[in-house]
Amino acid sequence: MTGTAQNRPNAAASSGEDSRRPAPWQRMAAGGGLLDPSGQLRSTVFEEMTALARRTGSVNLGQGFPDFNPPAEMVAAAVDALHAGHHQYAPIVGVPALREAVATHQREHYGLDVDPDGQVIVCAGATEGMTAALLSLLQPGDEVVVFEPHYDLYGAVVEFAGATTVPVPLLPPAFVPDPDDVRAAFSPRTRAVILNDPHNPTGTVASREFKQQLVELATEFNAVILTDEVYEHLRYDGPHEPIAQLPGAAGRTLSVSSAGKTFSATGWRVGWVSGPRDLVRGVTAVKTYLSHSAAAPLQHAVASVLTSPTGFYERLLEDYRERRDVLVSGLHGAGLNPPMPEGTFFAVADVSDLYPLAGVQDAEGLAHHWAETVGVVGIPVSAFVGPGNRGLYSDWLRLAFCKRTDVLRGAMAGLVASV
Ligand code: GLN
Repeated sequence: MTGTAQNRPNAAASSGEDSRRPAPWQRMAAGGGLLDPSGQLRSTVFEEMTALARRTGSVNLGQGFPDFNPPAEMVAAAVDALHAGHHQYAPIVGVPALREAVATHQREHYGLDVDPDGQVIVCAGATEGMTAALLSLLQPGDEVVVFEPHYDLYGAVVEFAGATTVPVPLLPPAFVPDPDDVRAAFSPRTRAVILNDPHNPTGTVASREFKQQLVELATEFNAVILTDEVYEHLRYDGPHEPIAQLPGAAGRTLSVSSAGKTFSATGWRVGWVSGPRDLVRGVTAVKTYLSHSAAAPLQHAVASVLTSPTGFYERLLEDYRERRDVLVSGLHGAGLNPPMPEGTFFAVADVSDLYPLAGVQDAEGLAHHWAETVGVVGIPVSAFVGPGNRGLYSDWLRLAFCKRTDVLRGAMAGLVASV
């Protein structure tokens, strides 16, 4: 008896399909925007645009990763850590040196007190930190307030958990939400609110009033504040002010950050979560069964630079300010009028003035046109938005400026010449 429907494993089940309802992976893919209109799985917009840049030989201002090396002392520390024999599992919560460095960093930069034992957990990038935090909190039917446009992971993990996102638009051109919309998004079903500050993709920084309102609403509805602060050291007009600093916030806030952006090492996958003990305990339980532990030698290397290098953060910011100014003045030279990024390594611009010349109808069309004719790739902001609010952002393009200034100058010269 072979090949009958009765004795074969159910073909649909074994391929992860279920005719009755979407499989968990399908919820995750749909939540992250990875299902095309016909239901086919596609890669992330970041990978797609990187592939487009490769194919067209364009400068890749799409996926946000530096084209320069991390600080030499951090690379040297990683080599030392390899030679020192850090080849086996790190503790699940992270090596003590890095947890202590994170606690010191939070205290020295922000005056936040977290105990390295129990209030800090190291993860495989901020990605795992956010994922473990969300999975530790969410039940089916819960709601998570998010601000659109937002990074794809938030929707992916929330949907995977059987919860739903409640999106509040950050209104262009200032990308500030309407406080009434913010209030209306909270309900007794709200389990968490995600704040990404400084903000990818818009390059804005959350105002004190906005953060204050979130703390008040999170308190009223007993929600957890999940704050993604991976761009904390790319803040151009004053120090980063984490939401956890606000009165009443620290006891309900999980702060997520990483080494990737600050130390130009997005491939190292070293991140961390800090916050109140009871919430970090939940993150730890989930994280145990995701990656178990992040790469041991790299944790040691990050620990060696996170708190020590005097002047490092200032130099980082100076370099990035120059890159930002090259990009923004190039965009002005091309007839665009982008808001000045206050943080992150992203600028956004309303590109609608360029449609007639390019023969396109939206920023997505222009992104492809630029790749083919100008040699510059950006990402349409609509890729960071669910269907409901997508129309608000169809004229906006995101450009990453985490590239060498000569590369940015070349890209902008090409752009200016093309208009
Ligand atoms: N965070 C980076 C960006 O927004 C890269 C993200 C990714 O490749 N998943 O461009």
